[in-house]
Amino acid sequence: MCAHTRNERSRLALHACCGPCLLEPFDALLAEGYDPIIVFANPNIEPKGEYVLRLETLRSYADSRGIRVVEIDTGEELWRAATSGLERPARCHACYRVRLGLVSEWAASAGIELVATTLSVSPYQDAAAIARAGAAVAEAAGVRFLERDYRDRYADATRRSRDLGMYRQSYCGCLASGDEAAAERAARRQARKARRPRD
Ligand code: SF4
Repeated sequence: MCAHTRNERSRLALHACCGPCLLEPFDALLAEGYDPIIVFANPNIEPKGEYVLRLETLRSYADSRGIRVVEIDTGEELWRAATSGLERPARCHACYRVRLGLVSEWAASAGIELVATTLSVSPYQDAAAIARAGAAVAEAAGVRFLERDYRDRYADATRRSRDLGMYRQSYCGCLASGDEAAAERAARRQARKARRPRD
């Protein structure tokens, strides 16, 4: 049990991409003595129904624990302009900058000096690129990015989100990532089929 009272804790704007990815980073930051406010700033998520589903999943969990969630809804144009014509990994690096930039600017306007993200719990994300992007956009906004790598907690996040019956998405967020994930699943199916012994 952490000995900090709420007033002693350092406020922190925690960028969250979805409910399942929130679970472990949020608890880890609490255990470190931070007081995280969740900021949902994800103009990359398409289509709109998917965006709403991820936000509602996150809100529902946060409400159950009395955690505050702030949504920054810019519409998709900002994200689209920043990533136009880019392929992975450059597209993802620009995507990190947009999302963490929005959170950093919000934190600065709210008088919160620290920013972190749940993104690094996913082994499918580039933790080093997230740290670089976070540090750069936080500095530009006059706040500080708290670098954390939560990949070793991914298995726990997966288990907990399944136990809670949370919606778990099958692609990162943008439409291109949906196509890429589908192509990767198809390639894995093909590879499994090719390995099967023939009669
Ligand atoms: S794959 Fe994910 S991180 Fe990369 S651009 Fe798309 S939504 Fe952003």
